[in-house]
Formats: sequence, structure tokens, C-alpha cells
Amino acid sequence: MKYLLIFGLTIAVIWLWQGKRRSSIADKAKARPPKPQAKSHARQLPATEIVACDVCSVHLPQTEALIGGHGVYCSEAHRRQAEG
Ligand SMILES: [Zn+2]
Repeated sequence: MKYLLIFGLTIAVIWLWQGKRRSSIADKAKARPPKPQAKSHARQLPATEIVACDVCSVHLPQTEALIGGHGVYCSEAHRRQAEG
């Protein structure tokens, strides 16, 4: 009778452990879909508009460009050169 109890307990522990493993695998599968979204977001980042400096025609992202009164410039020096 004692062995039957131990056997039953062992089966219950194994069953619970496998259930946990299965649910954690399912969680990992659920966690996977956001990854491709993050990749597609990273692919969208270089879509920043590229502008050319009005003085030296160097191409740079609009976020790094200096926007002056008469155009777009790569540096403060070129903005001053063009606009005085
Ligand atoms: Zn320039």
C-alpha cells in the first residue's frame, strides 16, 4: 500500500512537470511572433529621408541635417557659408 502511494505520487509529479514544460514551450511559441515585428521595425528605420547639403552636396539623414532659412546643410559652417 505504501509503494502504491509512492508510485502514484511519482506519476503525479511527472505529469505536473510535463504539463509545466508543455505550457512553457507554448509560452515560447507565443513569445516568438513579436520578434519578426521588431525586425520589420528595424528595417523601417533606414527609411529616414536623405537630404543633400546645399553647399557640398553631401548626403545625410534629415535627422542629422541642419535646416537653415534657405536650405539644408551638413554642418553649422556650411549653413553660415551659405546664409552669412
Ligand atoms: Zn556641407
